[in-house]
Amino acid sequence: MILAVSACLLGEPCRYDGTARPCARVAALGARHELVPVCPERAGGLPVPRPPAEIAGRDPLRVVDAEGRDLTEAFARGARLSAGEALAAGCAGAVLKSRSPSCGPGAVYDGTFSGALVPGWGLAAALLRDAGLPVVDEDADFALLGW
Ligand code: SF4
Repeated sequence: MILAVSACLLGEPCRYDGTARPCARVAALGARHELVPVCPERAGGLPVPRPPAEIAGRDPLRVVDAEGRDLTEAFARGARLSAGEALAAGCAGAVLKSRSPSCGPGAVYDGTFSGALVPGWGLAAALLRDAGLPVVDEDADFALLGW
């Protein structure tokens, strides 16, 4: 099986603060599956490091960083490119970084930069979900999914 995986979970230092979030459970999936690293924010042209960003509105979509800059276009572009890349590679599922405005499946920060979470999907995670893929975060029970 081919799985899309947030690049930062595989050790790439592409997070806003220039760090990675390597996850041994996710890396271990590589023994049984082909892992395709994706980073929607980097794909959207955002630099590393960069200020943190959150989804501030859904209708209309609005993504802003902690300095008040509107990054909606870059986030939307990066999500489209990364989801397209994953689907073109034949990915049949995705393990994406929790809580990220691009990658978070099912819960994201609420747009106030206070650490509060709300139900919702990162932009790339939502595109892959809408394409019919099972999309989970790094804490998921992979065995339950047959991965
Ligand atoms: Fe990690 Fe996704 Fe953020 Fe890239 S966009 S740093 S892959 S959480």
